[in-house]
Amino acid sequence: MNIGLFGGTFDPVHRGHVALARAALQQCKLHRVYFVPANIPPHKQRQPLSPFVHRFAMLALATSEEKAFVLSLLEAPEEGATPIRINARTEKDRQEKPNYTIDTVRRLKQSCKASDKLFLLIGMDAFADIAKWHQAEALFRECEFVVASRPGYSLADVANALPESLRPRPEVTRPFHKQPATGDLVLPGVTIHLLADLHQPGSATAIRQAAAAGKALGRFVDAPVAEYIRKMGLYK
Ligand code: ATP
Repeated sequence: MNIGLFGGTFDPVHRGHVALARAALQQCKLHRVYFVPANIPPHKQRQPLSPFVHRFAMLALATSEEKAFVLSLLEAPEEGATPIRINARTEKDRQEKPNYTIDTVRRLKQSCKASDKLFLLIGMDAFADIAKWHQAEALFRECEFVVASRPGYSLADVANALPESLRPRPEVTRPFHKQPATGDLVLPGVTIHLLADLHQPGSATAIRQAAAAGKALGRFVDAPVAEYIRKMGLYK
């Protein structure tokens, strides 16, 4: 099977995330996409974050219609670590170890067959920092990448974001500057499938700001997620 792994904070999940997963499903012929909400994202440890239980519930609402989308508890807090005051943002669960994607990938592989192929789904903004990720080279060995490109990014931006040991020499990437970030990029030890612009505006940050200002969220999220945010009083 071709298995996609889509990690993030999903605070909240929005149409951009779902569009990315759907495009990956089609373009890379994935049989399943695991959505993996992070309990403690390494790069967002200082930011306030909604409790895992809310982010998980919103993901369940947003993905329920697609059979191939499966929620994963691979990065869930240990039992008992989930805060009881589920409406409050809390620091408590952030005292644990951060979730590194390489650990999640290795844990997922333990339950896969040797013939299964793993694809890591990621947006271009996050991919731009991939070289700083924990054991980034190992991630490229374990998985192929599916990167949702954004307008204005070239193939050179993608290649130059690679960890140094995998990055092609400048004379190799020079012609890439004129090429948009689409298609497949295959280099020694690296396979990247690029999804053309998904035309999904917005980010979780914009949604939190809109909710705090009491604005409608229908532009960014489907009705069940918007209703959940309203009922639970999130992002006020
Ligand atoms: P925030 O604004 O809180 O940083 P985010 O939606 O950018 O939220 P995550 O929830 O962690 O951040 O995103 C998970 C993944 O989805 C990341 O790889 C990110 O690059 C990607 N992503 C986020 N927004 C979009 C979008 N509109 N289109 C495509 N990919 C996206």
